[in-house]
Amino acid sequence: MKKLPLHWQIVIGMVLGVLFGLLISSFSWGGRFVNDWIAPFGTIFIKLLKLIAIPLIFTSLVKGISDLKDISSFRNIGVRTILIYISTTVVAITIGLLLVNTLKPGTGVSPETIDELTRTYAQDESITSNIREATQQEKGPLSFLVEMVPDNIFAAFANNSLMLQVIFFAIAFGISMLLIDPKKVKPLNKLIDGLNEVILKMVDLIMLMAPFAVFALLAQIIASSGNMEILQKLLFYGVTVVIGLAIMITFYLLVVYLVAGKSPGWFIKGIAPAQLLAFSTSSSAATLPVTMERVTDHLGVDNEVSSFVLPVGATINMDGTSLYQAVAAIFIAQALHFPLEFTDQLIIVLTALLASIGSAAVPGAGMVMLVIVLEAIGFPADKLAIGLALIFAIDRPLDMLRTVVNVTGDSMVSVVVAKSLGKLHNKKSSSHHSIRSL
Ligand code: ASP
Repeated sequence: MKKLPLHWQIVIGMVLGVLFGLLISSFSWGGRFVNDWIAPFGTIFIKLLKLIAIPLIFTSLVKGISDLKDISSFRNIGVRTILIYISTTVVAITIGLLLVNTLKPGTGVSPETIDELTRTYAQDESITSNIREATQQEKGPLSFLVEMVPDNIFAAFANNSLMLQVIFFAIAFGISMLLIDPKKVKPLNKLIDGLNEVILKMVDLIMLMAPFAVFALLAQIIASSGNMEILQKLLFYGVTVVIGLAIMITFYLLVVYLVAGKSPGWFIKGIAPAQLLAFSTSSSAATLPVTMERVTDHLGVDNEVSSFVLPVGATINMDGTSLYQAVAAIFIAQALHFPLEFTDQLIIVLTALLASIGSAAVPGAGMVMLVIVLEAIGFPADKLAIGLALIFAIDRPLDMLRTVVNVTGDSMVSVVVAKSLGKLHNKKSSSHHSIRSL
């Protein structure tokens, strides 16, 4: 019998997880049961994906660079990637701004709702800690460059949030391999190749757990989700973000079609499991191993391209997040009657661009950086907590959706960069054996 494709297995896991979450929430002990007995499996899955992320980035990036003919091809990949990433993020922010300024979701929020949301959430520990985290960061304009350079590689390897430092080291390592006598470096090439294969196989093995893990993750999200009535009051704001995210996905599909001549079905089918995991985990960093596997093996992007474009994208390219930040910042300003000039909108474009580079690829990170966007337009510091309280209740579902856009955007850029360099292959790479051959 033909095996059900992975994305369908994951979809079934998700649907059953939602149904189970709804059912069990009707019992008073339901939430506790899910936390004690179901949620741990989702947590284990996310830990395994994170476990594999750093070794995977290191081996595949070193392999990708050391397989190149010369350094100039790497420069080509690097420059194109960064330029396209900046452009797509600016497109995302512009779409967000256009939508929120036309639909004006903030103007209809009644003073009672604002009061209620402020009372319920403004003192919430996650909001106060978000503000603390964002305002503590006294950063100069070039601090992101300084932070990218590691001073101790073991410290970088030991911290998942220092992925850019690992990328930096891997690039320096790969380039140095290219620069020395090929005879001397041959054993190392073989070692890195072998390690890379093993790690890819580990991704395959971890993915066997995916349908069960998404069941656990979604059951937990549903069982711990709060007051649905409040969600309804924020519906118009939520819908504005969702329309923006949908436009972004359509934009990606169009670009893939125009640049690579590939159909939307081909693209979505290729990366669907990564999108579904992005939705279930709300973390592009945790999804990264799967994104890399799908883009390389199913879309035919050469490892030389995907090994650079995807890890860099997971950390610095977050179109969904920056679109959401633009909409959320203006929504808060509209609801709290904070006047905005045209220049403020331009400031939002710039800070949301920088914020998406600075946001960690983990759940809820976009909200921390939103504080920085709000501060940049002169939003009063004593009202920050009220502002965040307005959007807090609906943040998790929006986080799930914007993470899908973040991951889809990175995958689209890999296809475009690969196509432009003649590195988009038609056939699946046969570099590693599928799990079915086990
Ligand atoms: N959760 C998002 C990601 O990992 C970041 C955010 O928007 O909060 O891509």
